[in-house]
Amino acid sequence: MTDKTIFQKIMDGEMDADMLHDDEECVVIRDVNPQAPTHLLVIPKKLIPRISEGSQEDQTLLGHLLLVAKKVAREEELAEGFRIVVNNGPAGGESVPHLHVHVLGGRQMGWPPG
Ligand code: AMP
Repeated sequence: MTDKTIFQKIMDGEMDADMLHDDEECVVIRDVNPQAPTHLLVIPKKLIPRISEGSQEDQTLLGHLLLVAKKVAREEELAEGFRIVVNNGPAGGESVPHLHVHVLGGRQMGWPPG
């Protein structure tokens, strides 16, 4: 059996997190190491390790994650703008192998991203 990820432990109630949203499909928590004044993580309850392993059957779920990201960005008053990021694989900067959508805001974002 593979070890649970940090996000699975949070969703199973085994680790604390600052949770802003919880529905049948996903949760939203504050990132413990924020890279912007607002840094949220939208995490599906289904274990999809990374977006490159998503499949057609995940289409509705993946759309839901973006709509929840938009909802929490509005609730966090990021009306000036925000950035959505999905890191995929080692070169993409992924560190937790459970798909999550970063929502960053509250400062001016640069381009290109690092
Ligand atoms: P990534 O590098 O895209 O896989 O993103 C993983 C994110 O999870 C990082 O931004 C971490 O700061 C964040 N993270 C790690 N552990 C926790 C935790 N216990 N609670 C909240 N966020 C976490």
